[in-house]
Amino acid sequence: MAEQLSTIVELQQDLNELRAAEELLGGIPDWMQELHDEHSEQKAGIDALAAEVEEAAQANRTAETEISDLRDKVKHFQEQIGMVRNQREYGALLQEIDGAKQQISTFEDQAIAALETQEEASGRLEEEQESFKDLDSRYAVELEKWEAQKPDVAKKAEVLRSRIEVLRERVPPQILTHFERVMAYRDGQGLASIQEVVRGKGPKIWHCGACNYRVRPQAVVAIQTTGSIEMCDSCKRILYIEEEAG
Ligand SMILES: [Zn+2]
Repeated sequence: MAEQLSTIVELQQDLNELRAAEELLGGIPDWMQELHDEHSEQKAGIDALAAEVEEAAQANRTAETEISDLRDKVKHFQEQIGMVRNQREYGALLQEIDGAKQQISTFEDQAIAALETQEEASGRLEEEQESFKDLDSRYAVELEKWEAQKPDVAKKAEVLRSRIEVLRERVPPQILTHFERVMAYRDGQGLASIQEVVRGKGPKIWHCGACNYRVRPQAVVAIQTTGSIEMCDSCKRILYIEEEAG
């Protein structure tokens, strides 16, 4: 392969590796993904339970506040009983007192129900927290391991970035512009390998390894003999011939 083409192949490889390294740095490595998912799921469950406990506690406080306000009201009405001037006023006052007492009873039921919910959810929360401990500490160990690996990945990304700069300078600007433009709208892949279609007799047939479009035999020959820069007639990726494995 002529130098220009092999430089582009190398450039694409480095760009792919850099992308993988950057994705890794922004996420979770494969080896701890499963534990990470399990940890996140259990943690979300615990957070939801804690919210349930807090909500029930809030409902209990609200009901208790209402009860206390209503008791003040009843007390106030009872103080007024001695000041009523007639039967009608007396009747009205008694009605107010009965109404308030009924409301108190309703809020008392609510307060008890909220308290029961709170206790029940607290119990489950404690159980969940207890069983989460083991997973959480295993997760902490793996996270620490990953944190310790991160600088190496970051360093590798740094090395790749400077290598990419050197390689870019070695590619003629016009070709580089084309390559980078194709890369931009082809999910980062500006190159495609040529695939020979295996069949019986007859002349050989080649396809673009990325889009499957037929590659002209002249283009294949030109790449093989002079390493010239040829692009796929369909997807416009720069074509190359993969080195024989091994
Ligand atoms: Zn193609």
